[in-house]
Amino acid sequence: MQQTSTSSTGMSGPQPGTFRVEDAREMMISGLRNAHGLEQQAIEMLERNSERLEHYPELQARIAQHLKESRQQQALVAQALEDLGESPSTLKDTVMGLVQNVQMMTHAAASDEVLKNSFAGYAFEHFEIASYTALMVMARAAGEARVEQVAQQILAQEEEMASWLEQHLPEIVSQHLVLMQSGEQKR
Ligand code: MG
Ligand code: FE
Repeated sequence: MQQTSTSSTGMSGPQPGTFRVEDAREMMISGLRNAHGLEQQAIEMLERNSERLEHYPELQARIAQHLKESRQQQALVAQALEDLGESPSTLKDTVMGLVQNVQMMTHAAASDEVLKNSFAGYAFEHFEIASYTALMVMARAAGEARVEQVAQQILAQEEEMASWLEQHLPEIVSQHLVLMQSGEQKR
């Protein structure tokens, strides 16, 4: 991937494999706006999911930690937009397809709610991993080292949360079975 000179409007057109820095910057800003909306969804989802987890104390603590991280992530994204001259007050948070689907799944209140929420949370973390990976590439192409660093920092937290959920899902399922047997969890 090579950037073209911004003044290059030669008759031969763009060379294969080149790109315009303005395009990268536009994509990056749009990526930051989407990330701000994504974190809003994350915060709301984690707030909902942290309720009724008294029988899953480890999961509850990890969700509380990631809720705190998500609020910090959203503030970092807002600050990055502000530094680029984009006012956070004009942010219109977009809701993406997958996020809506994930939310519909979490809205289905059932006895296996904790399992469904864990699956949805796992999918959500991977949506965030894809988003911040893309944002890093856009920021690098736009020559915005600070945004690249912010995306990388947030990406690491999303990867940690995704891998925690992956590692703990078997325990959560086992605990759910134990609670069903003891009658603590409705069938
Ligand atoms: Mg996040
Ligand atoms: Fe996350």
